[in-house]
Amino acid sequence: MTESVDPHQELIERAAAILAESHYCIALTGAGISAESGIPTFRGKDGLWTKHGEPPLNQYEQFSADPAEWWQNVAERRRHPDELTATIATAQPNDAHYAMAELERIGVIKHIITQNVDGLHRAAGTGSLTEIHGCSTLLRCISCNTRSPFDEIPELFPPRCDQCGGIVKTDTVMFGEPIPPDCLQRCYEESSKADCVILVGTTAVVSPAADFAFAIGQRGHPMIEVNLDPTIISRYCAVAIHDKAGELMSRITAEVKDILDEPPA
Ligand code: NAD
Ligand code: ZN
Repeated sequence: MTESVDPHQELIERAAAILAESHYCIALTGAGISAESGIPTFRGKDGLWTKHGEPPLNQYEQFSADPAEWWQNVAERRRHPDELTATIATAQPNDAHYAMAELERIGVIKHIITQNVDGLHRAAGTGSLTEIHGCSTLLRCISCNTRSPFDEIPELFPPRCDQCGGIVKTDTVMFGEPIPPDCLQRCYEESSKADCVILVGTTAVVSPAADFAFAIGQRGHPMIEVNLDPTIISRYCAVAIHDKAGELMSRITAEVKDILDEPPA
């Protein structure tokens, strides 16, 4: 009888050892971490863009040219949501989101930079979080960055900011739109302190999000990758594990907790 060999166990143990040794680990997450919550990724086999093509690259230009008309389209889409909007509205965090919130709770992950707009890290209990591409359930003033819940369609198009009178849009960052400076600042501050980075469910091709992770690796600190498929950064990682994030992150977190519970030597 042949014993079944777990292909990931050794890598999981190595990843856990690195995490447990780190003093300031930050994480970069992408669409793949939410795939098991039923939200499709953009790229890859079943990706939305692979199936339907990429959206126009001048979205922000269209918004800036006529914010009132842009808001009319938003209102229309709210009434007839597209696939991504409809799925995000009902999605719940999965094991990977919860595992990462647990890694924060036990003091290992200090900050998560997510490229996702689905709000699932927050829903899972993560507190130290930058949603670098915004959050689909928030509105944001383009002048002062004040954010507020996007509960219902505003009465006037475009809505105006309570604080400064600036034009308000959805918080989700569009193609062509600058990343809000408060987000960039936070990512810069957090990644500058990091001595380890774990990338979960991201192809790591979107700039500047991926650059914050690379910078940590370039300073000689370990990078860990947890992703279904290999990516362009896999070969630069101290550990790269390729399978679904839900199971892998749960197992890595369990190992980290085992290590940290051990009495000191
Ligand atoms: P991506 O779509 O480019 O890549 C996703 C990666 O996740 C792929 O490498 C894929 O192999 C991996 N993956 C798929 N299922 C997985 C699973 N179960 N476990 C682990 N990995 C899995 O995503 P990206 O790098 O985040 O960049 C695309 C952009 O799309 C981001 O800017 C993001 O804002 C946006 N986006 C967000 C959402 C969301 O909010 N949930 C969904 C789709 C796209
Ligand atoms: Zn404002």
